Amino acid sequence: MNPPRLSVIVPVYNEEAGLAALFARLYPALDALGVSYEVVFVDDGSGDRSAALLRRQFQARPECTRVVFFKGNFGQHMAIMAGFEHCRGQRIVTLDADLQNPPEEIGKLLEAMDRGHDYVGTIRQGRRDNWWRRWASRAMNRLRERITHIRMTDQGCMLRAYDRDVVEAITQSREVNTFIPALAYLYARNPTEVPVRHEERAAGESKYSLYKLIRLNFDLVTGFSVAPLQMFSFVGIVVSLLSTLFVIYLVYRRLAVGPEAEGVFTLFAIIFLLIGIMLFGIGLLGEYVGRIYQQVRQRPRYVVQAVLEQAS
Ligand code: UDP
Ligand code: MG
Repeated sequence: MNPPRLSVIVPVYNEEAGLAALFARLYPALDALGVSYEVVFVDDGSGDRSAALLRRQFQARPECTRVVFFKGNFGQHMAIMAGFEHCRGQRIVTLDADLQNPPEEIGKLLEAMDRGHDYVGTIRQGRRDNWWRRWASRAMNRLRERITHIRMTDQGCMLRAYDRDVVEAITQSREVNTFIPALAYLYARNPTEVPVRHEERAAGESKYSLYKLIRLNFDLVTGFSVAPLQMFSFVGIVVSLLSTLFVIYLVYRRLAVGPEAEGVFTLFAIIFLLIGIMLFGIGLLGEYVGRIYQQVRQRPRYVVQAVLEQAS
């Protein structure tokens, strides 16, 4: 059996409510492209009926479907990583299971690849998310652009196309907590972005709590740049210069005016400010140390329970 031209990777975590609609739209959309394809579903340890639905879909279209089952919930990016390791296509497209990225747009990404791009990102048009998600992603985008070299207009959209070479570089980087669209920018030779439609979640609810989103954004910043640490050293330098001046001034007052206790609250305020900066710095250091710790443990990034595929 020849490897297909196109692999579509779909991470699935508790999506039983939307899977039927996804199958009904994804397969016809891919058939319409007129290229050989496979769909690789990665079940990220769903606790609902998703696994059963995926198994049934494999039985319905075994020639172009593969399913990887995780033993637990390892997160969307690890699910995509597993999809990358289990797919065979020359071009690889990632897609969310919730139909927020219309599968009919995949053709647009492939056209951009025909023009010679090895990585095609996307920009969501008419984004259907609530205001705080939109505001938060704008703020994060700006911060990330400042401190990393990654220029991504819309980091949140996972409908993306990768050339096989880029995917292989990604699977070879052994990072534990990572953000795949950003990683791809490090390895792509000629990336581009195209606008795609964005829709309301078809069914079910978002798998990202506010906490998980914050964690993900931390990974995006600390995983790709040590600029926060450097900025912190910079703040440290400025603060110690200012405190030196302050000490000189206090010594001068002690000599010129004599002992005094009225300014004691001002001193407290200054000390609390310094303590705050220190705590922030320790937390930041901890963030990096934590990443190092996770990395040196060398645990498997994900554990596969079973893979459904047709014998080739
Ligand atoms: N997902 C996953 N593992 C997780 C969380 C999410 O595989 O731990 C999948 C989920 O099934 C969906 C995609 O990642 O296909 C995006 O999740 P979601 O739509 O909830 O994120 P949002 O669109 O709200 O950012
Ligand atoms: Mg979604």
